[in-house]
Formats: sequence, C-alpha cells, structure tokens
Amino acid sequence: VAYVAAHESGHFLGLYHPTESSGTVFDPLRDTPHCECTQCGLAQATCDKTGLPGNRCTHASATCGGGANLMFWLVSSVSQGYLSPEQARVARSSPLVSSP
Ligand SMILES: [Zn+2]
Repeated sequence: VAYVAAHESGHFLGLYHPTESSGTVFDPLRDTPHCECTQCGLAQATCDKTGLPGNRCTHASATCGGGANLMFWLVSSVSQGYLSPEQARVARSSPLVSSP
C-alpha cells in the first residue's frame, strides 16, 4: 500500500510513467530508462493486450529498463522504488514541495 501511495504521490508532484503499458509511450525525461515493448522481446500485440510486464524491463539499457522505477506503470516483483535524478528534480520543483 505504501508503494502505491508513493507512486501516486509522484503523479501528484508532476511525474509521469517512464513507460506506459503499451511500451510505446514514454515520459519526456532524458535519464529515465524506457522499456520498449518490441525491444524487450515481446510482440506489440502482447503489450497492447496485457500490458508490458515489469520483469521484461530489468536490463541496464536505455531501451529495456525501468521496471524497478517507482513510476513504472505497474507494481511488480521487480519494483524497487527508485527515482532518477531528473525525476527527483521534477518532484522537488513542485510548488507543493518547494516554498518561495
Ligand atoms: Zn501511475
């Protein structure tokens, strides 16, 4: 429950999913690993139907990682709750966090 609360708080502070469930739509940040469905050995139809599973997104590459990120679209056994430096910057920049 705490993990989901932290994830949803991330949205509230302005963060997007680094990779959406289709594996074809990504956040605009440069340092979040993306997980491209077809780059990770899956058929696009599979990702479209069931969503991209986190355990396919555990590589250290920029196109097949991010399953462990707090803001990955799905909580799974590989979730570790980390944020990239850019994600941390976005969250800290929220008017809800920073004061003038
Ligand atoms: Zn979300």
